Amino acid sequence: MSNTYITMDELFAHLSNIVGEEDISEDPLEKSLYSHDTAPIPSFLSKLFNMQPAAIVRPENVQEVAKVVEFAFHRRIPIVPRGAGTWALGGSVPVKGGLVLDLVKLNRIKKLYSDEPSVEVEAGIVWKRLMDQLSGEGYTVLSYPTSAPSSTVGGWISTGGYGIGSLKFGYFGEQIAELEVVSPQGRIQRLTSGSEEPEMKWFFGTEGVLGVITSLKFKIRRKPEKTAVCALYSSEFETVANLLSSLAKAEVVPYLLKFMDRELVELKNQVSRVKIREENFLLAAYEGPASEVTRGVNYFGEEFRKAKAKLAEENVCTHEWEERFNPMRISRLGPTLLAGEVVVPLNRLSATVGGIKLLQKKYGIKLGVEGYVVSRDSALVMAVFLTDERKTLKYTTQFALIKDITDIGLRQGGSPYGIGLWNSFYAAEKYGTEYFEELKRVKKKLDPRGIMNPGKFFEASTRFGFPIPPRFYRLSMAVGALVNRLI
Ligand SMILES: Cc1cc2nc3c(=O)[nH]c(=O)nc-3n(C[C@H](O)[C@H](O)[C@H](O)COP(=O)(O)OP(=O)(O)OC[C@H]3O[C@@H](n4cnc5c(N)ncnc54)[C@H](O)[C@@H]3O)c2cc1C
Repeated sequence: MSNTYITMDELFAHLSNIVGEEDISEDPLEKSLYSHDTAPIPSFLSKLFNMQPAAIVRPENVQEVAKVVEFAFHRRIPIVPRGAGTWALGGSVPVKGGLVLDLVKLNRIKKLYSDEPSVEVEAGIVWKRLMDQLSGEGYTVLSYPTSAPSSTVGGWISTGGYGIGSLKFGYFGEQIAELEVVSPQGRIQRLTSGSEEPEMKWFFGTEGVLGVITSLKFKIRRKPEKTAVCALYSSEFETVANLLSSLAKAEVVPYLLKFMDRELVELKNQVSRVKIREENFLLAAYEGPASEVTRGVNYFGEEFRKAKAKLAEENVCTHEWEERFNPMRISRLGPTLLAGEVVVPLNRLSATVGGIKLLQKKYGIKLGVEGYVVSRDSALVMAVFLTDERKTLKYTTQFALIKDITDIGLRQGGSPYGIGLWNSFYAAEKYGTEYFEELKRVKKKLDPRGIMNPGKFFEASTRFGFPIPPRFYRLSMAVGALVNRLI
């Protein structure tokens, strides 16, 4: 373990005093599970980092979180907050050993406010569980990630914050009224939009490098009176892209606007019960008062007729709406599924997908593209591909495709969706130089010992103390893969 002068026995004894023995794990199998997230790391890269945590700690309340963090700060032990580990950029993976702070037990609904509907929850609650419980009371959330069956509320605000419902209701951060955080020095703080030093927004999308979010209060809504889903096909992706633009800017904004290109549809059909016509696909869902939903659906009908697209069958619409929680079903085709993600201006969507298709030709690998319109003028694009983590050289070079996909989006005026470990050299591009400099200053001030989720976001720092040089990212991966085969 880095930077500490503490034996494992002492560590265990200190942590037991805080959370109790049953909430600490040093089990090798568990430690190995917590040494990665949803994207298996190429083996040569894993050698550059100390990905095995010394222990996994599961606090049950904010006071325990604060005591663990305070202890880690005093003993200079790295601490990595973890929700459900569903993210794929290495954010919840320890890269300098230390403690993984598993927030799974912080999963209570603290209060439901019915007048201006909102809810206060602990950060480790899983979206689907929250949604099911709210549903019983006649409420639902405004937006949620497609990973809702497994990912946590705290994990979403710490990462992207865009998903289903974002087009209509905006970024998740805009729905949050209050945040409770534990600072890297172990102080419990309640923040609102008026808070200064720390500001609430600093914790949005900063992936656990500035502190641990322990609870959130955010807006919810009454369950919608009506939901309607329509979908269409087109042989041209450009037609789909143009329709997405006009539907997103309509008077009635869809709750969800989703698209898949032909390659993704082909992959999906191999594992799906309901087959879709193998063309480019667009799905629009409208939610709200019945009259509004009807106006939305009528507009969809007008636009689709103008575009001479083909209407999808009703069972396809129903199935694809139900499948919204299952975007990675094609991972069954395995052995390994990887994805590159980027947010692009909606009017550059077609060009972005075109660029990704060139990559497909260049590397002879099938890249399926899907995504969501997340605001009136931007879309989140995910390009997925199947690979095999057991084939080191091939896997390592294909892992680097994640960067190529991001670069294509950036050339179209887009920005990376997340940073984590693998995209750390894009952080200034994502946040803008000025705000990124502010975050660096905040990091130094709040976390002077650099214990909170160290070695990522600001730089991909290896166990040897040097960061991975951005310019040689692809090259270093390829060389590393070669070295890996020789040793
Ligand atoms: C099938 C699938 C669908 C997905 N769909 C979407 C989507 O629609 N939109 C989207 O944005 N992402 C999506 N993702 C990515 C991922 O699920 C989300 O980013 C999710 O919100 C992460 O939550 P988590 O609880 O798994 O966080 P983790 O993966 O555990 O952590 C992610 C990062 O946040 C930090 N973190 C987690 N909890 C806290 C906390 N309480 N305090 C401080 N830091 C914390 C971690 O340190 C880490 O850096 C998807 C992933 C999959 C596999």
